[in-house]
Amino acid sequence: MNCTICEFADAHGWWGPTMSGKTHCLTCHTTWGGTARAHCTVCHQTFASNGVADKHWRKAGHVHPSEIVDFWQDEEGFWHYGGKRPLKPAWVVDSDTGSAKPVETILAAPTRVITGDWDPAS
Ligand SMILES: [Zn+2]
Ligand SMILES: [Zn+2]
Ligand SMILES: [Zn+2]
Repeated sequence: MNCTICEFADAHGWWGPTMSGKTHCLTCHTTWGGTARAHCTVCHQTFASNGVADKHWRKAGHVHPSEIVDFWQDEEGFWHYGGKRPLKPAWVVDSDTGSAKPVETILAAPTRVITGDWDPAS
């Protein structure tokens, strides 16, 4: 075992003082904080809330969030669903003048689009 957090938990029966308010996955060794967060024991991704985590379960079963349009991951690695994506600064070059100007957003294309009877409300 190479995980110091799991070693501590094994020896002492709790996560230890540095883990106050946080929890840890024994399988993928991800640590996350915040009681509202949800960790999936199938894909071992961490979601902003239980409600968000529910949305990567379809009628057919589990789908990795990276394969679902509207899921996006923040800088801390938490998955979010829909809403406002963080803006990333970028530059576009004007082909006429050759000058570059910043653009506000890049809308990253999803790797695969899920089709079918996906019902985000269920
Ligand atoms: Zn661990
Ligand atoms: Zn999952
Ligand atoms: Zn995990």
